[in-house]
Amino acid sequence: MLSRRTFLQGSALPLLAAAASRQEALPERQPYFPSSAHQFIWRNWDLVPASRISTALQTSESIVRHIAEQLHLKRQQTAPAMDRRLRFSVLRRNWMFVPREQIAILLGISEREIEQILNQDAFYQGNLGQQPKCETIRVSSGSLHGGGIDYFRDDPATNEESRFGFEDAFSHPLPNFTAPVDPKDNQFPSIAYPYVCPYSDPLGDPGYQRYYAIGLLQRMAASGVNAIWLGALLRDLIQYPLFQQFYPFHPERRDRLRWVINQCKRAGLKVYLYLDEPRGARAAFFQVNPGLRGAPGRRGDGLRCLCSSTHEVQSFLQNGTAQLFRSLPELAGVILITASENPTHCYSLTRTPDCIRCRKRRGADVIGEVVRCIAAGAQEASPSAHVIAWDWSWTIVEDDPQAQIIRSLPDKVILQVDFERGSQIRRQGVQSLVDEYSLSVPGPSHRASQHLELARARGLPVMGKAQIGTTWELGTVPFLPVPGLVAEKLSAFAKNGLRGGMLSWTLGSCPSMNWELFSIMDRHPDIDSHRAVHTLAVERYGESSADTVVRAWRIFSTAFTEYPFSNSVVYSSFVQEGPAQRLYLKPSGFAPRIMNSFDNLRWTTPFEPEQISAAFLHIGLTWEDGVATFRTAIKGMSGPAGQLAERDLVVMEAAAIHFQSIGLLVQFYEMRDRNSNSALARSQWRKNIAAQLALAERFLRLCRQDSRIGFEASVGYFYLPLDVREKIAACRYLLNSENDTQRFKT
Ligand SMILES: [Zn+2]
Repeated sequence: MLSRRTFLQGSALPLLAAAASRQEALPERQPYFPSSAHQFIWRNWDLVPASRISTALQTSESIVRHIAEQLHLKRQQTAPAMDRRLRFSVLRRNWMFVPREQIAILLGISEREIEQILNQDAFYQGNLGQQPKCETIRVSSGSLHGGGIDYFRDDPATNEESRFGFEDAFSHPLPNFTAPVDPKDNQFPSIAYPYVCPYSDPLGDPGYQRYYAIGLLQRMAASGVNAIWLGALLRDLIQYPLFQQFYPFHPERRDRLRWVINQCKRAGLKVYLYLDEPRGARAAFFQVNPGLRGAPGRRGDGLRCLCSSTHEVQSFLQNGTAQLFRSLPELAGVILITASENPTHCYSLTRTPDCIRCRKRRGADVIGEVVRCIAAGAQEASPSAHVIAWDWSWTIVEDDPQAQIIRSLPDKVILQVDFERGSQIRRQGVQSLVDEYSLSVPGPSHRASQHLELARARGLPVMGKAQIGTTWELGTVPFLPVPGLVAEKLSAFAKNGLRGGMLSWTLGSCPSMNWELFSIMDRHPDIDSHRAVHTLAVERYGESSADTVVRAWRIFSTAFTEYPFSNSVVYSSFVQEGPAQRLYLKPSGFAPRIMNSFDNLRWTTPFEPEQISAAFLHIGLTWEDGVATFRTAIKGMSGPAGQLAERDLVVMEAAAIHFQSIGLLVQFYEMRDRNSNSALARSQWRKNIAAQLALAERFLRLCRQDSRIGFEASVGYFYLPLDVREKIAACRYLLNSENDTQRFKT
C-alpha cells in the first residue's frame, strides 16, 4: 500500500524539513536542451497534442514542429481517450519549471480544476510539493537556428506498444471461461485490485466501465481471486440530509457501483468497498454544523474531522451503511481503514486530538465505536456482509500490539492483519524496519503474530494483507519474478491459519505468474512451496523447461532477499524510476518528495549511499544471470508457452536493469558532489555514464515493447519511453568531452 500518512508523518519527514529550510530552488532547466521551450516541447510531446503545446507557448504549430524535429521527436503518441488518466503525469513533468497558467492550457482545464485534482488525494500534493517560482516560457527566435541535435537521435522503434496498449488483451473474454458456480468467498475472500483501475474516485469517471473489462475480471477469477475492491466515500453513495448542502448525493456513482457489482458477478467475483470514514469536511460544513466539529485535519488541507463522539455522526455511520447495503444488496462487504490516510474521526491522525469530546476518551474506544456503528448498519441491512477492520497504521493511536483496539472491536468483524509490517531485518549489516509490504520478507512480523493471537483469543475471524504481485520494492513493473518468495509467504499464511486475504493494493494486481502460483496453492492447500513453484513452471511453460526455469527464478529470489529495505528507500527515492530517472547534471536544490527524490540522496538511510549502491548493483547483476538462465530455458519452448515466456522475460530484464540503474545513479550523484578532478575520478565518472547509457538503451527497447512497464494504477505512468530517451540524450551529452571538462571546472 502507498501510505500517504506514513510518508507525511514517518521517516521521510526529516528529509522534507531539512530541505524546506534551504533557500527556495530555481525552476528546473537541463543544459542539454538549447532552451526552456525545447525542454517544454520535449516533456509534453507524447502527452499533449502539438496544437495545445503551441497555444500554451503562444506560438505557431509549425514552430513547435520545427523544434520537435531539432530534437528528433517523431509522430506524437498522444491518446486523447486517456487525457483524464494522464492529467497527473502532465502535472508531474511540468511542475518544476512551468507556471501554473501554462500547465492549465496544456491540460485544457482551469487553474481551479488543477487545485481540485490536487485536493483529491494527499499523495498528489505530497508527490508534487511546492512549486518553484516559474517564468512564463516562450520560444525565442535565436533558439530556432540549426538542424537536428545529434545526441537526441533515436533508432527507429520496432514493436512499440502504445501506452495503455496492454488493456487491449483484457477486452477479450477468456476462451472457455466459466464463472465459478459456488465461490468459496464467504469464508475466504481473496481480494485484489483491477490492474488498470485508477485509485482516485473511479466511480466519478464517466468512462469507468473500461476499468472493469470482462477479460480482466475473468483472468483475475482464473487466478483464484474471488473479489475485487475499490475505494469510495460513503456520503457520495447515499442520500443523507446532513450532507445535502455541501456534499450532495451522487446517484450516478451508486448506479455505476451497481453496474460494477453486476459486471464482476459475470466473472464470479464479488465487490468490496474500501471506506475511510467518517470522512472529514470543509470549514463551511462546520459553520452550519458546529456541534460536529472535530480535530483539525492535516496542515493546509482545509479539512476537519467529523467528531464520531456525537450522536449525529454515529447515526450517519450506522444508518448510512444500512442504506448503502439496502440499496446494493449484493455488495460483499466493506474494508475499513481507521487510522492514517484522510482525516476521519478525531483520532485518525493523532494520539492527542484537539476535540473537547474525544480528548476525554481513549483512541482505541473511538476506533472501536466507528467500526461498531458501521458493522451494526451492515448487519441490519445485509447480515451476510463482511466488515473487515484493517490494522493499518494503528500505531498512530496505540503502541504495538494494539491490544486495546482489538479488544474494542465488535464481535463478528474480521480483523485484517498486515503480514510483514513491523518486521525488523538486517541487510548489509544494518538493522532496518519494514514498515510496509515486502516480498523480500516472507512474514509474519512479530506484530502480525500478536494481532492474530489477540484476535483469536477473543474469537474474531482473521484475514491477512500482503501484496503478492509486486510491492513498492519495485512498483513500476507488472510483477516481480520471485515465485519462491511468494510461495514462502503463502506457506506462512497457511501455517498461521490464513486462507485467501487481501493480496494487493493498487499495485501488483496484474494477472501474472505470481497470481498463477496463488491459484495453484489455493487449489492445493497442502502443497509445499518447492513443489508449488515447480508445478507453476510446468503449467506455465511445459515440463521440459521446468527445471531450468526454476533455476532462474531461484537466482532472482535469492538475490532479492538482500534488498536494502527501508521505508525511505521505497517511498522517497528514485527506485520507482530507475533507468528513466532524469540525470541532474548540477545540484537541483529540490526538496525530496514522496516517490521523487530528484538528486537528493538522503533517502538511503539507515544505509550509507555506498551500501545502497553496492546492494542494488549486486541484485541487478545477479538478476542478469537469472535472465540468461531463463533465456536458455526459452530455447526449449515452443508455441504459446514460448511467447508467454518471451513476454515474462521482458519484465525480468526490465527489473534487472532497474536495480543496476539505481546503484549507478547513487554512485553518479556521489561522484558529482565530490567533484574530484583526478584522472581516476574522471575515468570512473565516464565509466558510470557509459554504463547508465548502455542500460538505458536496452531499457528503451523493453519499455516500448511492453506498455505495462512504468505503469501503476494510482499514479498512471511513472515514466514514458520519452523519459528514457531523455536519459539517453543526457548521457550522450555528458560523454561529449567538452561538456565533461566543463563539469570539472564548475
Ligand atoms: Zn471528537
